Amino acid sequence: MNKLFLISVLSILTINAMAQGKIVQTAGRDQLGKFAPKFAELNDDVLFGEVWSRTDKLGLRDRSLVTITSLISQGITDNSLTFHLQSAKKNGITREEIAEIITHIGFYAGWPKAWAAFNLAKNVWAEDSTGQDAKTAFQNKMIFPIGEPNTAYAQYFIGNSYLAPVSKEMIPIFNVTFEPRCRNNWHIHKASKGGGQMLIGVAGRGWYQEEGKAAVEILPGTVIHIPANVKHWHGAAADSWFAHLAFEIPGEDSANEWLEPVNDEQYNKLK
Ligand code: MN
Repeated sequence: MNKLFLISVLSILTINAMAQGKIVQTAGRDQLGKFAPKFAELNDDVLFGEVWSRTDKLGLRDRSLVTITSLISQGITDNSLTFHLQSAKKNGITREEIAEIITHIGFYAGWPKAWAAFNLAKNVWAEDSTGQDAKTAFQNKMIFPIGEPNTAYAQYFIGNSYLAPVSKEMIPIFNVTFEPRCRNNWHIHKASKGGGQMLIGVAGRGWYQEEGKAAVEILPGTVIHIPANVKHWHGAAADSWFAHLAFEIPGEDSANEWLEPVNDEQYNKLK
């Protein structure tokens, strides 16, 4: 494992540690701190600092869903709904999901309320490229994090990949996520004794191929054993996001040798 890689792994861990803990909200004090200091305190410290922060009881995504349903049902379609739609998006609700949610609410709370909510939601989700939305949707169905862009190894990949450390003890384990069509170059995990790599499919559909052999499909739960010193590549299917766990098997004199990319002619043959 090289130094750059370790640095990127450590920075991911720091971000995750910071992401836990209380939600900091200042809207109450910013807007009403002087006029209604107690209301501002209850809003920032109790509603957000205590109720919204109880994420061990109910996650932020679910809390967003409950909140926007409550607001739309009352016909509250002002800037407070916009704020909560923006939060819902940050908390992982996709454009497709919000369209489904508001349609559903429309039948129970009233058609005009759904119309008003859609006019706001359309703007909140407007700048979403389909790619970003698909990434969020993929994360929502996967138990391991997607993590951070895999910048340290980007030169050895076609397309965007992401890395999340799962364990750094005993055997290093990473969750590696590939966008559709993303794959790593042909490469060899070299070792004079032991070594090699194990992959376990986590979500979506992908491929593993050894030189001179047919590609093997990887689905959630598929286990792949890659002996040391064998030339191979792995990556996503053309029509699916994909994630696998990668286990780096300890060995002597271990090193990775990165080779040529898997070109489109080779890749497009896979079905
Ligand atoms: Mn490999």
